Amino acid sequence: AGGPVLLEAVGVEKRYDKFVALGGVNIKVRANTVHSVIGPNGAGKTTLFHMLTGTKSVSGGKIVFDGHDVTREPDHVRVRRGMARSFQVTSLFLTLPVRENLRLAAQGVAPAQALNCWRQPTGSLARTDTVAGVLARIGMERFADTPAGNLSHGQQRRLEVGMALAARPKAIFLDEPTSGMGIDDLDEMKHLIQSLKSEHTVVLIEHNMNIVMDISDTITVMQQGRVLAEGLPDDIRNDDRVRKAYLGNM
Ligand code: ATP
Repeated sequence: AGGPVLLEAVGVEKRYDKFVALGGVNIKVRANTVHSVIGPNGAGKTTLFHMLTGTKSVSGGKIVFDGHDVTREPDHVRVRRGMARSFQVTSLFLTLPVRENLRLAAQGVAPAQALNCWRQPTGSLARTDTVAGVLARIGMERFADTPAGNLSHGQQRRLEVGMALAARPKAIFLDEPTSGMGIDDLDEMKHLIQSLKSEHTVVLIEHNMNIVMDISDTITVMQQGRVLAEGLPDDIRNDDRVRKAYLGNM
């Protein structure tokens, strides 16, 4: 399923001292797919995200995105190449309206940066078209003037996805976007993620197996810093090694 390979990791390693967090991970993500990364706690999913998006450096291996070797590039350069990662609630300006949050995200300003040093946004024009488009996409037009801090948990999680979308990425990386959600919010997030792949490529860490099985084109299963299996949801569901890794919790 999907288009050409947009993102490829080849033998990516991460060591902390002698501890091997990633032991040579290979992964190919095709354009316009939802590619999920699953695995037991501590399997290395978040570490892999750090490597792919550049928030931490690799100990070995190579990462190619959209035809460029980005292995040694810092995260802000990768953002310009079209990789956007959704961070959790800390990435929202809680006192500012939703619209303003998105406008700042479209200009490449994130709260951490704003706290450390306010720099002139580089995005020049306010990109009202981007903001309006994202508001529609995340289904939050009627909350445009609501301070982010007044939103429900589910709405905040959707806005976090919107913050990443405002960077107009080719690939969007979502780390457990449904964590702590009730059933209605879950459903909305599921539909939002599914809707993204017409224009974006989604790399997803997700613990909710029903959602993973429903919306993924490809699933990579990690265990102890390695890829245990990769395939279509049906292949993964029926894979004995995967079942064992989860001790029947699928
Ligand atoms: P979870 O679902 O629990 O978040 P995960 O699959 O995302 O798990 P990681 O957070 O990537 O797992 O962690 C992988 C392993 O690397 C864990 O055993 C963790 O303790 C270890 N680890 C992560 N960061 C460091 C660090 N800075 N120093 C030492 N070990 C680390």
